Amino acid sequence: MLAHQLGDPARDLAILGEGNVSALASDGTFWIKASGSSLGTLAETDLSCVRLNAVSDLLEHDTLSETEVEAALVAAQVNPEHKKPSVETFLHALCLSHEGVTWVGHTHALAVNQILCSALGAEPFKRHIFPDAIVVCGRAPAVVPYADPGFGLAKAVHAELARYRETYRATPKLLLLESHGLVALGRSPREVLNIVLMTDKWARTLQGTYALGGPRFLPESEVVRIDTRLDEHYRRERLVKT
Ligand SMILES: [Zn+2]
Repeated sequence: MLAHQLGDPARDLAILGEGNVSALASDGTFWIKASGSSLGTLAETDLSCVRLNAVSDLLEHDTLSETEVEAALVAAQVNPEHKKPSVETFLHALCLSHEGVTWVGHTHALAVNQILCSALGAEPFKRHIFPDAIVVCGRAPAVVPYADPGFGLAKAVHAELARYRETYRATPKLLLLESHGLVALGRSPREVLNIVLMTDKWARTLQGTYALGGPRFLPESEVVRIDTRLDEHYRRERLVKT
């Protein structure tokens, strides 16, 4: 199960109630981790089923109070008997509304946050340093500055995904939240896990390079080359199979 893999204590990706996962169903609903439950021990009863449109429509509002958010999330639930869905339900609904995204994973990976919470923020991730991160995490990550978790964060992500689409004509695979964590957008649980693990490795590699004079960023022409190579396309397709 994806949640257990992301919540494995040995991986340092999420502890306690940190992080969440979601998956799109075929009937306009999606399943998401309930608020406060742990990824590492997630059970079926810790999942909540939510109507995608009901959550997406709320993002039309400029602001929502905490009580409005609470009421709206309960109203969006398919079964009110389920536990209360995660406060990041808005963020997940937004990601799952994008073409080709059916699974989403969000974690506070230690190595990634050591960079995202530093004075440099997401800056070191804005250029690539090795080919596999391009293959797995895409040509460039989407990045949002710190925002209040929940509705405020979803509004910031909404704007960034629009900018990303305008720039790259694509949906990002990796979304970096400064001073917070990462979000992986995939077509399968395997792809989400791959993106999280590769971002973790990328972060640890970056930290090593800063100890040895700083990263040697790949030229953008090489990044585009890897991103569009046929053999890498084949490898990418094989990597996302469950
Ligand atoms: Zn979080």
